[in-house]
Amino acid sequence: MSGNAFLVDTTKCSGCRACQVACKQWNNLPAEKTEFFAGPEYTNPAELSAITFNHVKFFPVDMSNKEKPVWTIMHKKCYHCTVANCERVCPEKAIYKLDGWTVIDQDKCIGCGACVNACIYHVPHVLEEDLSQYGTEQPLRKYKSYKCHACTVNKRAVPACAKVCPMGALTYASRPEIIKRAKARLEVVKKDFPKASIYGLDQFGGLGVITILKDAPEAYGLPVDPKPVSITEVKAIHDTYALLDLFTFRNKMLKKTAYKVAKKLTV
Ligand code: SF4
Ligand code: SF4
Ligand code: SF4
Repeated sequence: MSGNAFLVDTTKCSGCRACQVACKQWNNLPAEKTEFFAGPEYTNPAELSAITFNHVKFFPVDMSNKEKPVWTIMHKKCYHCTVANCERVCPEKAIYKLDGWTVIDQDKCIGCGACVNACIYHVPHVLEEDLSQYGTEQPLRKYKSYKCHACTVNKRAVPACAKVCPMGALTYASRPEIIKRAKARLEVVKKDFPKASIYGLDQFGGLGVITILKDAPEAYGLPVDPKPVSITEVKAIHDTYALLDLFTFRNKMLKKTAYKVAKKLTV
């Protein structure tokens, strides 16, 4: 785990989406085509995508009392798991750790989608359209996987999303400091939300994004005890892929097919 981490305090987030916009701007990512009622609870765009690395979602926590519904607002990006399923399954070792952050090397990526399927948080996405006029150090490339890189590309000291948050709902500091802040804040939050919890302390060996929730993690669809993908199963797929890869002549499309065949033969 890197020395630093993010703290998302959902009790402070106003849903202004400054973080979402700042990420788009800093990474030179295009806007999404949206429909007003397409996303859940008016959330637009509906989810993270290959061109939206940071997403603000309006989230119903308890709608049982129609007079007094309980809502929260979730800021979501890659959680930067210490034990990262995406990194474990990538057959090209295109996903690696940089200062503890989980980063994708698009030069190596073959667009096989293994990371997309392995991430239980639905974070990485393979870009399916030509958007080469966007991007920063490199143009965006079709059939490559993209997600938040913790501002390690087009590097900056404080990630753009954390820098702009006007509510202090998204902060960035050393991980021990973030954990200290989260625990202290939880005591305050529990007075209004007795079931409030902290997510990210232990999951996948500790996440790079610690989140204060108004309710239990399950209410947000976040598993308390998620399991890393099996190393034995991954190794079997990778071994078969290595054999088939001998016949792909470094062609990315053939490599992608070889990975799909290897998976089918092994699983
Ligand atoms: S949240 Fe998903 S994409 Fe991010 S490090 Fe964890 S497994 Fe990988
Ligand atoms: S799409 Fe495939 S090759 Fe690209 S980063 Fe994901 S797992 Fe690796
Ligand atoms: S850390 Fe950087 S890349 Fe990741 S969501 Fe924030 S602004 Fe976007």
